Amino acid sequence: MYCSALGEQWHDARVEPAIGHLDSASAGRSSNGVIQTLHQHLIREAEIGAYVAADERAADLEEGRRALGALIGHGPEEISFRDSARAALRGVLNGMKLPLSATVWVATNEFGPNLDEFERRGFAVRPMPTIDVYGRVDVDSLENMLQFEQPDFIHVCHIGSASGVVQPVAEIVQVAHNAGVPVLVDMAQSVGHVPTVTGADVVYGTSRKWLTGPRGVGFVAVRADSLVPVSVESSESFIAGQLALSTAVAEFSAIDQQLVYQELAGVGRMTRERLHGIGSWEVMEPVDEPSALVTLAPPPGWQPADVLAARDRLRDLGLLVTAADSWRAPLAGEQSLLRVSPHLDVRREQIDQLATAIRTMGY
Ligand SMILES: *Cc1c(COP(=O)(O)O)cnc(C)c1O
Repeated sequence: MYCSALGEQWHDARVEPAIGHLDSASAGRSSNGVIQTLHQHLIREAEIGAYVAADERAADLEEGRRALGALIGHGPEEISFRDSARAALRGVLNGMKLPLSATVWVATNEFGPNLDEFERRGFAVRPMPTIDVYGRVDVDSLENMLQFEQPDFIHVCHIGSASGVVQPVAEIVQVAHNAGVPVLVDMAQSVGHVPTVTGADVVYGTSRKWLTGPRGVGFVAVRADSLVPVSVESSESFIAGQLALSTAVAEFSAIDQQLVYQELAGVGRMTRERLHGIGSWEVMEPVDEPSALVTLAPPPGWQPADVLAARDRLRDLGLLVTAADSWRAPLAGEQSLLRVSPHLDVRREQIDQLATAIRTMGY
């Protein structure tokens, strides 16, 4: 049984999965329409030449930028497509005018590879204060800190790779802007998943996760009135992928966005309620956190290799989840977690099956 009519519609727009796919945080399942756009453009490139084929679809790409921009609160002229979220961040950091030893404040859910990018450039990285055990940024404390000291910029993962906690980005942007500090937001896990109009200076993300576009496409948007000047250079690009992402965004936008966000929050709640208190596993978000990214800490004493083995065992049983090692969020601790990230087409039986499997692996 699907959680809603929208879940069934989401399922019907896609090929039948050969597995219980609970792994949108790695890569969502693309719709038949997305696959068709990709396929048709590759054929068109072979028919008339790739550059002519791109010119032919210029208006569609512009429409894709407009619709994606509407999701994140940016105009089409502020958006560039990239190969990945990582490439987007690199492009931004390379194009930013920063002092020699720049300071960046981050949340404790910061994505490990992003920290590597900061460290490689010699930035001083400092975690922002948290208000709860889940690593949520304490906006009031941040506001106080900003009265005494201002970093060159704040970087925040709206949702991290190893926690379903949704950071209060709009509030962070407000207090940061009051102090004249620009905010960059990693939306790789939030776009298509939770509301993403935040007023941030720079936002970037990827096509393949919750938007269920193709792999190999990312995007970056820089506000025209950004507190930090950034020039993002253009490069060779995957036009078929960008068109297919545009199809994914068009399909997403044809549904009531707020309804999608609400239903994904419902999927997350249902999943956490079902998995809460199973064996000695622990759900690592508040049950009603408004996201569909759910993480589970293993019973005490489990090593990372044991979590990997659990992931493999679940795959053998026909359930696809992630073993999230600590490199994904090094500031949040050493723990390896199981990450469960169902989309709208999840069926309750799949979560029941997961709960049963985890219970037998609990001790
Ligand atoms: C997946 C992910 C990224 C990286 O996205 P790529 O497109 O693979 O570069 C960055 N940040 C977070 C929080 C992610 O989950």
